[in-house]
Amino acid sequence: MCSSCFDIEYEKFIAYKDFDVFEIELNKRIESGDLILHKSDIENDGPFECLYRCITCNTVWRLSIPENAWRGYFLSEKNAVHFKKALKKEEKKGSVGCIIFLLILVFGIMYSIMR
Ligand SMILES: [Zn+2]
Repeated sequence: MCSSCFDIEYEKFIAYKDFDVFEIELNKRIESGDLILHKSDIENDGPFECLYRCITCNTVWRLSIPENAWRGYFLSEKNAVHFKKALKKEEKKGSVGCIIFLLILVFGIMYSIMR
């Protein structure tokens, strides 16, 4: 990271306004040639993910554009990998919680029927 690119990363854009402000800064850097679109061998996770590379320090940035409930992110390649792993773990935790809740519900219904 250097003065030509960004000194902050976003794990999510809390409001659309935050993204608008960020996008202006991003476009400035693209127009000045400090950041260029980057093609990566690592697969993109969706059509909303764009990669940029800083021509000064070679940092690769991953941008996921917020869309509806998805809050997006803007992270350096290295941090994006960690972030997405943590995100997947959270998703798994959520689905286990869901299954436990359903089991309790089913047992509750069976118990009330058998009484
Ligand atoms: Zn840079």
